[in-house]
Amino acid sequence: MHKSVFLSIIIPVYNEEKNIQALYNRIVAVLKYQNLEAEIIYINDGSVDSSLQILKEMAALDSRVCFIDLSRNFGHQVAIFAGIEMAKGENLVIMDGDGQDPPELLDKLLAKRAEGFEVVYAKRIKRQGESWLKKATAHMFYRTMKTITNINIPLDTGDFRLISCRVQQVLVSMREQNKFIRGQISWIGFNQTYVEYEREERLAGETSFTYKSMMKFALDGITSFSVWPLKVATVMGFLVSLVSFVLILYTIYQKLWGTTVPGWASTNISILFIGGIQLLGIGILGEYIGRMNDNIKNRPYYIVKETNIE
Ligand code: UDP
Ligand code: MG
Repeated sequence: MHKSVFLSIIIPVYNEEKNIQALYNRIVAVLKYQNLEAEIIYINDGSVDSSLQILKEMAALDSRVCFIDLSRNFGHQVAIFAGIEMAKGENLVIMDGDGQDPPELLDKLLAKRAEGFEVVYAKRIKRQGESWLKKATAHMFYRTMKTITNINIPLDTGDFRLISCRVQQVLVSMREQNKFIRGQISWIGFNQTYVEYEREERLAGETSFTYKSMMKFALDGITSFSVWPLKVATVMGFLVSLVSFVLILYTIYQKLWGTTVPGWASTNISILFIGGIQLLGIGILGEYIGRMNDNIKNRPYYIVKETNIE
């Protein structure tokens, strides 16, 4: 594939009107300092503030600025994917639009790339301005993923990373609806490494991730890369059946040779218990079937309303 620029910087934007300009200034300074030829691709993911307006103004002033305006909010992962698919660079850097991922790290990322690594992810050693609950759940999530999936998703990394156009091509060919890009990149393989950084606070505004959306994200990650929850359901099913079988024998024994008392409580408890386990199993099946359903529909991942990329 013919590549027309050295670097594509991919930035998803959802209501970042207060941050776009400041981050752009930082990026431009880095590009100038390093003397890098780049395109900066902003994906407007259905912002309801003036983000798109600002992006268009920037694009009019600077030919390196590209924007992709999606038809609605498709979510962070899909926005990134849109950028990845449309990037023309030999190297791609994915970065948040709120200033939490410092563009000043670019030289370190590129230095590792020059050593021959196809993926260089940025590992956060400190996170500022985020609640303890967010940090604790993120910590738990990455460790759970490590235990129950058979791919090695690096601990404490987000999507801030550099990938080569070779990895880009593979990513684009992975036709899955519920994107979990950092997992997909690990799955792809090649030589991967990391550099460390301190994650800064958002420049302005609030995170748009609720605990509900993070839960969805975590489930996407787990169901895309692991059948462990299905196995848990099976194991629990076996265990419960075993216990029930013993209880049945005991009940028969009591009925024939012991004394039976009206066992309302125990009956109720066992019904609830078994009902609970069954619902759990069905729920887990539902999580996977729902995602299969998404994939079978074969819809486009995103819809572009407007873009200045040819
Ligand atoms: N974002 C997006 N679509 C969404 C939510 C977020 O494109 O539906 C963008 C957002 O503008 C930012 C990045 O994704 O550039 C990360 O979002 P945020 O800072 O809210 O997440 P956090 O850093 O808290 O994980
Ligand atoms: Mg953020």
